[in-house]
Amino acid sequence: MFDRQINIKTPAELKIMREAGRINATVLAKVRELLQPGMTTADLNAAAEEVLKSYNCVSPFKGYGRPPFPTSITVSLNDEMVHGIPNPKRKLKEGDIVSVDCGTIHEGYVADSAFTAGVGEISPEAAHLLKVTEEALFVGIQKMRKGNRTGDVSAAIQNFVESNGLHVTREYTGHGVGRTMHEGPQVPNIGIARTGAVLKPGMTIALEPMVLIGTFQTRVLPDQWTVVSADGSLTAHFEHTVAVTEGEPLILTVL
Ligand code: MG
Ligand code: MG
Repeated sequence: MFDRQINIKTPAELKIMREAGRINATVLAKVRELLQPGMTTADLNAAAEEVLKSYNCVSPFKGYGRPPFPTSITVSLNDEMVHGIPNPKRKLKEGDIVSVDCGTIHEGYVADSAFTAGVGEISPEAAHLLKVTEEALFVGIQKMRKGNRTGDVSAAIQNFVESNGLHVTREYTGHGVGRTMHEGPQVPNIGIARTGAVLKPGMTIALEPMVLIGTFQTRVLPDQWTVVSADGSLTAHFEHTVAVTEGEPLILTVL
């Protein structure tokens, strides 16, 4: 699954992935508009599926894994870090923080991106968590340069988050992406600089810091998907699919 050789993309492949990323960003922008009290997490999935359908695209999440993931996006509230299953009984409330992850398959190529945002007013503690997690993603992206190693990216993310007094997940990692949802190399959210795979132009990697306020420990709920913080503290998740180039890193999952 994590074959390092398959991750180099041609310019033509990158062009398709950029379009996949644009569509994915369009889906997430639509979902973001709907983060209001009273909306259910299933409503968010329905809106995402409508946008995907309008582009003749599907999400690689639906049917993925065992038990098969049932929906096109994951929606994770508050202490839920990732892989929350949309539910028609689950309503958003003022002050919730909502992590939404979406993948898009376009012409056979996958883009993968996520964000966390608040519903109405959120606590200063939650706002700090969101700010640090999003910045950690961009700190990592800045290390996505030809000749750097995956450990340079991982260490930058870990050091940034921990220097802000928060914790990064150990078990869940960034990953190569493109021809399939998970390719090599893996890019953990913790690591040691100057170790790991060397980054080369044409590599496409989904970086995804997952940050927790109280502990790095997590557990999986009985639904076998939803990952929550072990201590019930708030969590956040930001993700972009990024291409390594000859120069600046290229973020594919933007409008
Ligand atoms: Mg994702
Ligand atoms: Mg991912």
